[in-house]
Amino acid sequence: MGSDDLLGAAELLRRATDVTILAHVNPDADALGSALALGTALRRRGVAVRVSFGAPGEVPRSLRGLDSDGLVVPAGAVPRAVQLLVAVDAGSAGRLGRLADRVAATIACGGAVLVIDHHASNTRFGTHHLVDERAEATVVLVARLLDELGVELDERIARCLYAGLVMDTSMFRRATPDTHRLAARLLEAGVDADALTRQLAGSHPFAWSRMLSAVLGRAQLEPDAVAGLGLVHTEVRLADMAGVGVEEVESVVDILRTTIEAEVAVVLKEVAPGRWSGSLRAARRVDVCAAAVALGGGGHRLAAGFTAGGTAEEILAALRAALAQPVLI
Ligand code: MN
Repeated sequence: MGSDDLLGAAELLRRATDVTILAHVNPDADALGSALALGTALRRRGVAVRVSFGAPGEVPRSLRGLDSDGLVVPAGAVPRAVQLLVAVDAGSAGRLGRLADRVAATIACGGAVLVIDHHASNTRFGTHHLVDERAEATVVLVARLLDELGVELDERIARCLYAGLVMDTSMFRRATPDTHRLAARLLEAGVDADALTRQLAGSHPFAWSRMLSAVLGRAQLEPDAVAGLGLVHTEVRLADMAGVGVEEVESVVDILRTTIEAEVAVVLKEVAPGRWSGSLRAARRVDVCAAAVALGGGGHRLAAGFTAGGTAEEILAALRAALAQPVLI
């Protein structure tokens, strides 16, 4: 990221009177935290602000505490073309889902599209870009932007930034000294880290325990798979998902990946009868993105995903084959 990118983005926001900020579909803490931190700061400067995302229809339960100013509007309420569109934490326009068409429509009408992101694969789909793949989270880039704009970090803004920082660094496991320096500023602004982290990642409905017991009870360990490095897998069927949210289903792979005997963990989630979304995680030696790409997906080297049709057993067979001669890191 050049300093021009930061100054250009700041200049664009300084002049704006109406800003629409979009997070990627199924927004996580980094996406929604980035959108709401920036939106809150702009609203305070008198700018008309709306924040949205293509799906699902409402803010995921664990992230509801971030929208203290009520900035989130339904996807259907986002105008086709706007004065300034800001996309956060989205590597491509496609990651905006049903709102992806707002990018081209805005550019066609003479509006600007600012892309703020930290994915190495970012396609630079805007008119202005603040993209730095070395940033641990998109909120780090938003914090730099707010500093450039001279915005004081109050507790509401700080809470949104902290949410993205703690979640995208896996609870500060992948944090640099700079990450901790930013975290210190956010705590000084009044963030209650314990309460916020509990809300984001440490609380589930009771149905989660029942779902876990069924899903983990079916887990299989295959020590010889992945060229002897080991594979552990399970599936979450439609019937398992009653009474639990997307956060609960996403948490399964984080538990399975702690298995010492397996380098690779796979969770297949049934999104519709005969249709599965797969999450792949590697401990540290295997590039699971390559395997995900073989099944039509993508991602990062240690965390990737895909969507495929068939039976769970058919998809597992395809994965075993894709991982039989693993791409080592
Ligand atoms: Mn992110």
